[in-house]
Amino acid sequence: MTNFESLGLSEKLLEAVEAEGYTTPTPVQEQSIPPLLAGRDVLGVAQTGTGKTAAFALPVLQIMSRSKNQGRRYIRALILSPTRELAAQIGDRFSAYGENLNIKHKVIFGGVNQNPQVRALQKGIDVLVATPGRLLDLINQGHIDITRVEFFVLDEADRMLDMGFIRDIKKVLKLLPNKRQNLLFSATMPKSIADLAGSFLHNAIMIDVSPKEITVDRIKQKIMFVRKADKRRLLVNLIKEEKVSCGIIFTRTKHGANRLVKQLDQSRINAAAIHGNKSQGARTKALAGFKNGSIPILVATDIASRGIDVEGITHVFNYDLPNEPESYVHRIGRTARAGRSGIAYGFCDESESGYLVGIQQLIGHEIDTDIDHEFHFSGAIPKPDQKPGKIKENKSSKKKSQNRPRNKKDSTQNRSNQSGRSNSDNNQRPRQNNRNSSRNSSTRSSNNNHSRGNNRSRDSNNR
Ligand code: AMP
Repeated sequence: MTNFESLGLSEKLLEAVEAEGYTTPTPVQEQSIPPLLAGRDVLGVAQTGTGKTAAFALPVLQIMSRSKNQGRRYIRALILSPTRELAAQIGDRFSAYGENLNIKHKVIFGGVNQNPQVRALQKGIDVLVATPGRLLDLINQGHIDITRVEFFVLDEADRMLDMGFIRDIKKVLKLLPNKRQNLLFSATMPKSIADLAGSFLHNAIMIDVSPKEITVDRIKQKIMFVRKADKRRLLVNLIKEEKVSCGIIFTRTKHGANRLVKQLDQSRINAAAIHGNKSQGARTKALAGFKNGSIPILVATDIASRGIDVEGITHVFNYDLPNEPESYVHRIGRTARAGRSGIAYGFCDESESGYLVGIQQLIGHEIDTDIDHEFHFSGAIPKPDQKPGKIKENKSSKKKSQNRPRNKKDSTQNRSNQSGRSNSDNNQRPRQNNRNSSRNSSTRSSNNNHSRGNNRSRDSNNR
């Protein structure tokens, strides 16, 4: 097993890591630290909770401490973070890991008086952790010079883009010197991020730890097929029946999150929305209320929910199924933290069955379904030959499916449909752990709720 010593870290950093109680590097640390120490650019697909901060902070600190600043300190490393919570967390980590080194860092973000920040900058620092807006603001006022930066980190890049920071990032990139080492971390890798990465990373090492940190085996999952129009009532019923006191609901859009909060309020369910369009203050308040239990339900978009590391979340509702299968795994990972168990419901409507197919392909098995609920809609069940991804809705078929009666016969027939689909998919696209598939397919044809034991063994194979 790899240990921190074998990654090439200096004695002082090893001591700091030990003082933090870390015994083994996480996968992202194991894979990022050696190439970063060797001067390579790194593109990492990893989310908060994987240990990614140490993955870049340790090499940055080591590289900085190799060559001392001559004379006055200047900014040699710049870390851009989308939010002030994350910036502050990164700052804390630099304090911990850099304890034995003579390297000064400062965290700056907007929404607070700039004067203390300016005073700290004037004294001279080596590492700057900043949110984009305040950074550019202070650059424009002449308080910050980033023209000698040797190490640039863009953290949570997808969240940056979601929060509308792309122009700011491009402005910052223009001000940086050409010769520098770069690192980009993102929890997802849509085309926009890949393009951004391609615009400033050079010959980067790609690291993907997204599925590895996921432990889905403790999380009970349930898919419910439902008409789009019935989702709200299904949700309200579930929240009330299960007396949810710490749950998170995922919607696809920010607007959808706001609307749902209002609708829940009409059903006397207290909820708060958290997404990129909310002010920093509103997000902090919502999160604080959720953490202290005064707000039982948080309605979030994918990106905004990153970094929500709240213990004791018992329920995750995929109110809208995510169109990126990886997001499903990230979402359900919000529950069952720290060894606890949790349940993740997925609402699949008539336009989302392709997303379900994609999710099941990614996780390597079908998800249990609940077809006995009041709003069950068999028209949302994936068809036998259904491809993963978006369903193009054709108006006439939409009308037809909406008029279809809700009856049990539908359910039985479609239950076998789902099994049939998945088997054929598995045949077409062999997955890493397909050696279990023949065993599973016999389970599937008789019962859609497969053995969790099989799933568990797949999971542990994946890790
Ligand atoms: P991050 O993903 O950087 O936000 O880190 C998540 C949490 O994991 C933080 O509380 C770190 O202190 C902790 N952590 C980071 N690396 C390790 C490690 N190798 N062993 C144990 N905990 C770690």
